[in-house]
Amino acid sequence: MLVALVATATACSSVNLNFDASRPHHRPNGFQNNYLDFEPKGALELLRWRFDAWRHSLPPPTQQPAPSVAPDVAFVQANARAGAAMQPAVTFIGHASVLVQAGGLNMLTDPMFSERASPFSFIGPKRAQPPGLSLAQLPRIDLVLISHNHYDHLDEASVKALNAQPGGPPLFIVPLGLKAWLAEQGITQVMELDWWQSHRAGAAEVVLTPAQHWSGRGLHDRLATLWGGFAVFLPDYQWFYSGDTGYSKDFADIRARFADRQTDGGFDLALIPVGAYEPRWFMATQHVNPAEAVQIHRDLGAKRALGVHWGTFSLTDEPLDQAPRDLADARRLAGLPDDQFFVMAVGETRRLPPRR
Ligand code: ZN
Ligand code: ZN
Repeated sequence: MLVALVATATACSSVNLNFDASRPHHRPNGFQNNYLDFEPKGALELLRWRFDAWRHSLPPPTQQPAPSVAPDVAFVQANARAGAAMQPAVTFIGHASVLVQAGGLNMLTDPMFSERASPFSFIGPKRAQPPGLSLAQLPRIDLVLISHNHYDHLDEASVKALNAQPGGPPLFIVPLGLKAWLAEQGITQVMELDWWQSHRAGAAEVVLTPAQHWSGRGLHDRLATLWGGFAVFLPDYQWFYSGDTGYSKDFADIRARFADRQTDGGFDLALIPVGAYEPRWFMATQHVNPAEAVQIHRDLGAKRALGVHWGTFSLTDEPLDQAPRDLADARRLAGLPDDQFFVMAVGETRRLPPRR
């Protein structure tokens, strides 16, 4: 991501090939957020951030990565094949990579199994622990949901490996503009969505939802492809992944938008980022802190939330183990029980109650 951040300070954005003048988040030279236009940080701000971090030795060298446990591969594999008897379950693979099993489907968010979140194999943020499930330990994946194209969310080796999984490729559901990139990797089972567009995949209806973030992998593609989150509606389970986001009114909008299909309660599970948030003067517009993540959970009216995007890649100034502590404080302030917004060990599987 630092590589991308450096790019943002220096690059000019490219042409929006999906431009649709009737939609406010479509601009001729790229996509934009609903409530706060993304303004690339200047080179001076980037230097100020890096200089301050260097001066204060941030993140501290003593930081602890997220704890890891041995995965319950037998349960994950058996549950994967249980069909209608599948138990809703979530397995934390690390960072924003999560296996969600529900409604007979095996679904994976932002698969990242590589050593570095970077365009280069020798430099860039390096993972602090192996993925909680290896690619070989995964069940056959039905759906891969990719929120945006930053290197910690869209990893070339990981999507190629998934595309070659035994039993045939999964369906990749991606924001506008990423279908062409995946096609360049030889991946063609792809559904590309604009915000609020939906796609039915078997029993699941998947809707791309807005988030406040940005995109870019190189020097000339800033804002050229869309970013977002996903709402997944199954007959007996509803879950949500926000993708990377700053705090915005988008989440109240999402609740309002789906109110008529959630008269029996909000999302059963929401995956919300809780890491990569310091310093606030630099990060607040693009990454929430744990207190804002709790507010998103409340805005959505979700039944429970899992904090993601922490503990594996050191992208910003806070130590890797800061997010759970700040989340605990935010929960206490909001009067939320611990199990309403939890974090998991890398490799851990949690079985969750069904919708009814
Ligand atoms: Zn991002
Ligand atoms: Zn990220």
